[in-house]
Amino acid sequence: MVSLSSDLSPNSTASIGDVQRSPNPRPGLLTFLGGVGTVTGSKFMVETDHVRVLVDCGLFQGQKELRRRNWRPLPLDPHHVQAVVITHAHLDHTGYLPRLLREGFSGPVFCTPDTARLTELILRDSAHLMEEEALHANRGGWSKHHPAQPLYTEKDAEEVLTRLRPVEIGADTEVTTGTVLRLHHAGHILGSSWAHLTLEDGGTVAFSGDLGRPVHPLLLPPEPFSGADALLVESTYGNRQHEDARSREIFAGAVTRTLARGGNVLIPSFAVDRTEVVLYELARLRRSGVLTSGVPVFVDSPMALRGLRIYQDAFDRHSPQLRPELTADGEAALDAEPFTAARSPEESAAIQHSRVPCVIVSASGMATGGRVVHHLRRLLPDPRNTVLIVGFAAQGTRARELIGGTQSLKMFGTYVPVRSEVVNVPGFSAHADTDEILAWLRGAPEPPDTVYLVHGEPEGSARLRDRIDHELGWNAVVPRSGERVLVRRACRRTVSRQNMEGAQRR
Ligand SMILES: [Zn+2]
Repeated sequence: MVSLSSDLSPNSTASIGDVQRSPNPRPGLLTFLGGVGTVTGSKFMVETDHVRVLVDCGLFQGQKELRRRNWRPLPLDPHHVQAVVITHAHLDHTGYLPRLLREGFSGPVFCTPDTARLTELILRDSAHLMEEEALHANRGGWSKHHPAQPLYTEKDAEEVLTRLRPVEIGADTEVTTGTVLRLHHAGHILGSSWAHLTLEDGGTVAFSGDLGRPVHPLLLPPEPFSGADALLVESTYGNRQHEDARSREIFAGAVTRTLARGGNVLIPSFAVDRTEVVLYELARLRRSGVLTSGVPVFVDSPMALRGLRIYQDAFDRHSPQLRPELTADGEAALDAEPFTAARSPEESAAIQHSRVPCVIVSASGMATGGRVVHHLRRLLPDPRNTVLIVGFAAQGTRARELIGGTQSLKMFGTYVPVRSEVVNVPGFSAHADTDEILAWLRGAPEPPDTVYLVHGEPEGSARLRDRIDHELGWNAVVPRSGERVLVRRACRRTVSRQNMEGAQRR
């Protein structure tokens, strides 16, 4: 790995129209602006002599210290970024885009067509929440800032939407002069991709984005890694292995137990993808008789319901990202579970009057906000109820505190006692586990010069780094936030099986 001081920045900030191809272009330069030491805020800058491309533009979420980072100016002038590439629509990969525009970025944003559809949904919601939060803070007078300002507005988010440039998976697109992008299916959520960039000097960089699981019930497995000089790979579950069969048992067991004792099941769920997977699992339980027809299922999240519509459209279009055996049934894969949609606040409030035990699926997934917090306040004090955590829960979130066994949880300025059962089903996560990431890496025809472990908490990134080092014999590094490195061309070498086995034994 080559670390650089900041004076080695590209030698030109000329606009694309002014660019003259250099006969000897310098190697690319990578800067880790976010998504390092944390699972949020993914932002990676790739620079060449004339070009700056940002890959992912995510919001920091979770602990206050992380959220504060959204307010700090980036160590670069957004006017000088020519293009952005988005691997998928989740807020921790797209949520900073409106702010980047506000700060001066005026280029195109490349992503798959389904990512464009989901990004529209996610950014509008994010901007709306930020404006609402600022409004409440000003009314309540509890903000340190007078007046409290949103990080960005709905108008900023709308402006981002006009810049989205959908590109098909597998197609080569010149994102700026001399820089070619190819997106590959990543199997994480609908529209998700891993990105491959070919730079001016011929060097290549790949970004795993969030890597899905081969066993995702709706999406096809990630397309194999086809190699690059540098690879940035996620490590959310870098130190964990999912147990699939066991996960289904735990999920079904928790639902059965809770309903039998007359309790309600609350499932905090990411609005996009988790809701679809949870509904698919509930449909299986319905078919197997675990969930009888008398048990109502509520989906209480306007955004999740809109996301569901986008998934249903993808089924109608027979999207090549979806499992073909499911698209043959059209919408049946998602409609097999009859559920009650709660769109309006009144419909949401009415759920508490359900006369029979019920299942409630509500956002946000880490219970940091949204309607699920109201359900938690009502359901946590009763030991008959169960909270089922089905996705990754980052440090500093209510979901993580619940998994950690907290006995009281703060919300709306007060502490609520936790007497309900709390069940964690990490196998339902949309992120590959450590073995699955290694299997994906093994598909490479040649090892990269360097693999960078990003999008992980420190233990996850470090553990995956060690395994890549020991089992594949590859150069693997956990970068520091803000660090800059050169993209060195990988020397084409073949790692013999013998060497790899030797490395595994060490
Ligand atoms: Zn994601």
